[in-house]
Amino acid sequence: NLTTQDKERIINPIERPTVTQDLSENVILTTVDDLYNWARLSSLWPLLFGTACCFIEFAALIGSRFDFDRFGLIPRSSPRQADLIITAGTITMKMAPQLVRLYEQMPEPKYVIAMGACTITGGMFSVDSPTAVRGVDKLIPVDVYLPGCPPRPEAIIDAIIKLRKKIANDSMQERGQIKQTHRFYSTTHN
Ligand code: SF4
Repeated sequence: NLTTQDKERIINPIERPTVTQDLSENVILTTVDDLYNWARLSSLWPLLFGTACCFIEFAALIGSRFDFDRFGLIPRSSPRQADLIITAGTITMKMAPQLVRLYEQMPEPKYVIAMGACTITGGMFSVDSPTAVRGVDKLIPVDVYLPGCPPRPEAIIDAIIKLRKKIANDSMQERGQIKQTHRFYSTTHN
């Protein structure tokens, strides 16, 4: 003779753990995160921003040889249509407020790749130039540093792949926190 519990076990042989409210919400959020991240990393739109010789290497990416469109990267001329800025070249004190303003005009979520020695540290201008910014990360938050003088197009593709991996692990909950920029220029004073 089977008891009621035995009958239930036959009907439902796998003992299911109780899913707490928190866990079930996280499962849904994680799935939405994956879908959202996949869409964003597959369609990064970089703002065209070149101030010196590094930009020549970036421009080479747009041609058929390197064909970076295959990553979904479509260069934009307006910051309002861009979610990635690749700072290619020396940043001068005079250029700094404009760079911060362009960054602020980009919609969230947005990313920055610092390309080349001049952008990352001031490069050869860091020794005695009174006008070079010693590191673009003093103006805007940087997601990927790409060293070189200049970095080759293959290195830029590698930086983009690293950024795509970073975006793939983004969390919707963490994204709600606004990035703190530690800039020393204010666009309101222009
Ligand atoms: Fe030019 Fe080299 Fe500076 Fe790039 S890192 S802007 S190639 S000097």
